[in-house]
Amino acid sequence: MKICMFGSGYVGLVTGTCLAESGNDVVCVDIDAKKVAMLKRGKIPIYEPGLEPLIKRNVKEKRLTFSTDLAKGVKSSTVICIAVGTPPKRDGSSDLSQVFAVARTIGRSINGYKIVITKSTVPVGTSEKVKEIIEQETDQPFGIASNPEFLKEGAAVEDFMKPDRIILGTEDPKVAEAIKELYDPFVRTGNPMITMSIRSSEMTKYAANAMLATRISFMNELANLCEAAGADINSVRAGVGSDPRIGPSFLFPGVGYGGSCFPKDVQAIIKTAEEHNHNLKILPAVEETNKKQKELLAQKIIKRFKKDLKGKTIAVWGLSFKPNTDDMREAPSITIIKALLKRGATIKAYDPVALESTRALLGKSISYSKDNYAILKGADALAVITEWNEFRRPDFEKMLKLMKSPIIFDGRNIYTPKKLKAMGFEYYGIGC
Ligand code: NAD
Repeated sequence: MKICMFGSGYVGLVTGTCLAESGNDVVCVDIDAKKVAMLKRGKIPIYEPGLEPLIKRNVKEKRLTFSTDLAKGVKSSTVICIAVGTPPKRDGSSDLSQVFAVARTIGRSINGYKIVITKSTVPVGTSEKVKEIIEQETDQPFGIASNPEFLKEGAAVEDFMKPDRIILGTEDPKVAEAIKELYDPFVRTGNPMITMSIRSSEMTKYAANAMLATRISFMNELANLCEAAGADINSVRAGVGSDPRIGPSFLFPGVGYGGSCFPKDVQAIIKTAEEHNHNLKILPAVEETNKKQKELLAQKIIKRFKKDLKGKTIAVWGLSFKPNTDDMREAPSITIIKALLKRGATIKAYDPVALESTRALLGKSISYSKDNYAILKGADALAVITEWNEFRRPDFEKMLKLMKSPIIFDGRNIYTPKKLKAMGFEYYGIGC
């Protein structure tokens, strides 16, 4: 199939590349000329494990190209995917301007039958608006579908190649048939492709993210209760997660959820409910709990140093909102670092891949290092914010020697408190 992918971000680039890998001809179009130029030079603008070799191979095989010529992309394709951003507006609702701009471009450039697939996360009713906008611009025939993307940054290629499920929202049998053919190579192991109405498909994406965010906030709230009541959340989590009705995933307490999806999608579904005069009770609480949780680690540090961090150096391990990505959108590290800076702390930070994306946000207010041990030299404390694998088994003896005072604030509960305390560390976790 000939595919035009609108948006070469985390979703568009991965999706476009994986669809090229399965034999389609894909052009990824983007309005960001810098990004497109970079991609044309063979440079990958994001960090995503496994993506680079896949892009290189498909570019070499001439199945994958990059362009800023949006109209040409539409004209040369039969399937058009919308994978542009849907960031939150100030009031929490989704800013759909990028999606609607793409719809207008499609309407103005369309030159025959096309299938238009919305992969961006969009509120219920958006695909209908996309259809209306295209129809305002053209009489050409086209079919429409909602096919929300469920890939996880950090494992995006793997997730796209082996999806747990594919959600396909369309009322049009011809469209359903074509999309099933497109995805057939990815569901050969029998994972389901679930077909439903467009509105249900749009809602499914928000329901999934809201459920996951709820689990995180629930466990964070419980962790804080454990701490107050003298219980250990790590044991409670193991006990609770072994119930097959609950399951062990997404039960890890920490510094709150971040990233480009959970915070904005929880806010957006709350807004959707408001627009339908429907009063949601759980999700506003999930969001509120998360806001507080993002501040918790900084509060623990401030309390430990009796509110005065002037002259104190805090080393930070991990900046990205989760491991295996350089994405800093809504990263808890930003909230934590800003709170510590406000109290006068000096921050020295390390992250395996997110130093540059953090520098773009925090500039010279903190210092950056490519060596996680170097920043411990003379540090008054270490805050572990992102659970990169390389932090799990560090050289504790070396750390003891380097640090001015061996205090660890473990925002992800990756260490065993008993072991660390026995070695001479002062340890603070979440809920333990
Ligand atoms: P992103 O910001 O990384 O990328 C969006 C890209 O779209 C940018 O490169 C931007 O320049 C481009 N763009 C904007 N307007 C355009 C236009 N008119 N024509 C062509 N390109 C245009 O965003 P992302 O993280 O890839 O997310 C895209 C969508 O997918 C969002 O709705 C998001 O909620 C959803 N989603 C994201 C993830 C994730 O993990 N990032 C997972 C599932 C779903």
